[in-house]
Amino acid sequence: MSVRISNNTMEVFNPATGEDITNISMTTLQELDSILQKAKTEAEKYNYSSFFRRQKLMTQLQKGIVRRTDEFIDTICSETGKKPDEGLMEVFISLEHIKQSSHHLYEALGKRSRRSGILKTRKAWVEYEPMGVAGIISPWNYPLILTVSPLVEALLAGNTVVLKPSEHTPLTTQLLKRVWDESTERPELFQPVYGAGEIGNALVTSPFTDVICFTGSTAIGRKIAEACAPLFKPVILELGGKDPMIILEDADIDRSVDAAIWGGLSNAGQTCISVERIFAHEKVYPEVVEKLKREIQTLSSGKGETPIGAISVDVSLEKIRDQVSEAKNNSDVFEGNADEGRFIPPCLVVNPPFEAKILQEETFGPVMTIHPFQSDNDAIELANKTGYGLSASVFGKSRKRINFISRRINAGVVSINDVLTHYGIADLPFGGKGLSGMGKVHGKEGLRAFSHQKSYMDNRISFKAEFWWYKRSKKFAQVLRKLIKWQYS
Ligand code: NAD
Repeated sequence: MSVRISNNTMEVFNPATGEDITNISMTTLQELDSILQKAKTEAEKYNYSSFFRRQKLMTQLQKGIVRRTDEFIDTICSETGKKPDEGLMEVFISLEHIKQSSHHLYEALGKRSRRSGILKTRKAWVEYEPMGVAGIISPWNYPLILTVSPLVEALLAGNTVVLKPSEHTPLTTQLLKRVWDESTERPELFQPVYGAGEIGNALVTSPFTDVICFTGSTAIGRKIAEACAPLFKPVILELGGKDPMIILEDADIDRSVDAAIWGGLSNAGQTCISVERIFAHEKVYPEVVEKLKREIQTLSSGKGETPIGAISVDVSLEKIRDQVSEAKNNSDVFEGNADEGRFIPPCLVVNPPFEAKILQEETFGPVMTIHPFQSDNDAIELANKTGYGLSASVFGKSRKRINFISRRINAGVVSINDVLTHYGIADLPFGGKGLSGMGKVHGKEGLRAFSHQKSYMDNRISFKAEFWWYKRSKKFAQVLRKLIKWQYS
């Protein structure tokens, strides 16, 4: 791991170099309680703030992040072991999400009238109101974007936020908090807490949190769902994936291979929407395997100018090594190079058996598997063979076949002739099915996920009484029967 925990202190170190960075005190349960009380008190005022005011705060945050771009890149890279370009991409995507979420606020949460149907004398409408205090828990693999994006959505929806970053990557959140405080001068609206599972669980079960947004593993997501269920606490779960990529025989093979390399290896494969399983039509399978193998063997993971960085946490390192070592006993495995230390060589595993760990568990490393398929239905069956359903990609030319396949793939998002890029479209709802979670972040749906939808009704014309109330006429039933016949028969 990139942190050692002892005596309520987190010692953070750089996973790529092993160099110690700093120590951070963990939030105690008593501190958490008073932070949450403060968030609740503030929520009572902030919940009624205008959209304009909230948008202004986001613009201030956005500008604050731009001013500190280099500091963010350094911090992200030092606590994750990423490459600087990957840190830069994270800053860029975070800024795009802040800007676009803010832009969509009125459209997503503005008052909307509804048809009143047969009740012509009534007007009906919907408004969105904040839930109160949002508890956000984030993972380590993208410490800025996966913190900023739910933070901004919760705040724009009018909630105050108590946020716990991963214990492996607290420094990016510390910097974000500094930038928030200095740019907005509203420190009480966003308060971070630091620690591991215990503090996360306390945040989830606290009576002061009104909604939970969790991004992380399926195993912890299940625990959170179980904790929220008896409390009837709304929960958004953004969990793991085992994303398939399908390559049809009419696909542009060079683009597909380059996309697989990018989709599977960027951030050393530590992306929830990484390409983990490739399925290529049998007619192009030998060519795809050959080209992927050649590309992978020229790539390396390491400290210097290599494109692929470190594996950020120990458990992940052990899991990837275990999966690859088992694969070497039952399949052909082609690898690139890797420096000593926490680096895994980029790797292609050819046609492993279905029972192999590498197909049963999320890998979360720079490793991909490849299998051939014969028909579109085979491809769909193979792609849907795990319980995950996060994202998927289909490469090919025939729109008809692409549509047929994409509509049958178990996934929250399908990319056509592309990978990962959909995450940069801030208006596109994001979230998986099955073991990949429930609920959406991003887009109007993300803003609504942090809101209660409240329905209203009013009279256009006021009468002394309504004809269906108790003092009704004897002809009531006769009139209603006529109305039913006239309107619905
Ligand atoms: P994790 O589940 O181990 O931890 C995530 C967060 O949960 C951390 O902040 C951790 O401290 C906290 N936590 C641990 N136990 C808890 C408990 N009992 N109650 C409350 N909080 C608790 O995940 P991770 O290793 O940090 O992240 C990697 C996983 O996240 C991968 O499975 C990856 O696919 C997934 N992920 C999903 C998305 C998505 O948007 N779907 C994005 C990024 C990562």
